[in-house]
Amino acid sequence: MSKQTAMESEATATTGETLVEVRNLKKYYEGGGMFGGDPVKAVDGVSFDIQKGETLGLVGESGCGKTTLGRTLVQLEDATDGEIHFDGRDITSISGEELKAWRQDTQMVFQDPESSLNDRMTVGEIVREPLDVHDWKTPQERRARVRELLETVGLREEHYYRYPHQFSGGQRQRIGIARALALEPDFIVLDEPVSALDVSVQAKVLNLLEDLQNEFGLTYLFIAHDLAVVRHICDRVAVMYLGNIMELGPADDLFDSPSNPYTHALLSAIPEPDPTSKRDRITLRGTPPSPRDPPEGCPFSTRCPVKIKPEEYRDLDDELWTRIEVLREVIRERSRAERSLSDRARELLGMETRYSSIEEIREEVFGDVAVPSRVETHIDEVADYVRAGKEAEARRYLFEEFGSECDYERPELYDVDGVQSVSLCHRHQSEHEEPATVYERQLSASGSK
Ligand code: SF4
Repeated sequence: MSKQTAMESEATATTGETLVEVRNLKKYYEGGGMFGGDPVKAVDGVSFDIQKGETLGLVGESGCGKTTLGRTLVQLEDATDGEIHFDGRDITSISGEELKAWRQDTQMVFQDPESSLNDRMTVGEIVREPLDVHDWKTPQERRARVRELLETVGLREEHYYRYPHQFSGGQRQRIGIARALALEPDFIVLDEPVSALDVSVQAKVLNLLEDLQNEFGLTYLFIAHDLAVVRHICDRVAVMYLGNIMELGPADDLFDSPSNPYTHALLSAIPEPDPTSKRDRITLRGTPPSPRDPPEGCPFSTRCPVKIKPEEYRDLDDELWTRIEVLREVIRERSRAERSLSDRARELLGMETRYSSIEEIREEVFGDVAVPSRVETHIDEVADYVRAGKEAEARRYLFEEFGSECDYERPELYDVDGVQSVSLCHRHQSEHEEPATVYERQLSASGSK
């Protein structure tokens, strides 16, 4: 495996002419409240390219930052840092009339056709609005353009004077698409464009999007959580987790041979249409960490089932290792939780609080596994910290004792052998086993294979 920069990775992952180039893009929201606090790192340094005429899918669990990334690409949000080049021009530095002129080239179609259209405007007014804002040609030409657009998306001329509430969900999404096409954009961000629609209507809207792409040479960023839809419509797919792109590659490579541990887990969660299928499911423990407090190293390190163990604990049994990770997760959560005033009062009075005691946690986590003394000693230390109310110190102690490169070093994007994907994971370095090999071994050890 060769370590490389994201820019070099893109050169191997795609072909053709580049329309959008994103480099180390960040979008942070400053902490609210009187004392500020840590920023929310919604998008935390992503780099990728989109080729002219291609559809790049963007997938990940809700809250992973995909909508924020889409909104930042079309400048509905200002980037905190990084660059977005559109046809070679850095659009993060433009403003005023220049920005207004550029906006004609990019549009966004929103998820919910019920709320994204103004119910007090007629369909004609909604589709015409971008033409009015940009003072496009004469009023007669604008009306003619709207009629043409309605026809393009499969609506009829008489729909011009109707209101959005008179239409079905699929038709409303067609109105949104007609509006997005009004100024002949080159690039459209489609934010979950079919997820609010019935399955039968979804197929029609997806076919329409494909036809429009072929007819007008459009470039799409297709944001979705439905992986089957993504596979159907996208040329390449980027997988996001906690504001980072974990894997990016051609749709078939990514679905048939996932490279990143997170992609493995995400794909294993797709419901299997064949009930007799023996495909193994990977259950991830816990929930993603807060984007206010992301892990220092790999974004997936708090949940990764194939995380690298530190050198001195490589011989530890996988089950015990998982329990140590669970303890780390519990202490991490606890160190971030705000104690209520009544909890503080109860604690000071020596009464029970809503927090489990460290003894209870220890029993829950390690009660049914053998713990060697070289591990036990450290759990004793952690318990002392927690009993003294020093959760942050306990967390740091666990990090220093049981942390590996996954915890303290952010991985690079690596080329993956045999496929055209790039993947953010230390395991693609030659001294480690590949994620797929470790999953395979774990599954045979658990008797699933
Ligand atoms: S770098 Fe480590 S924690 Fe991150 S995905 Fe790879 S193995 Fe898992």
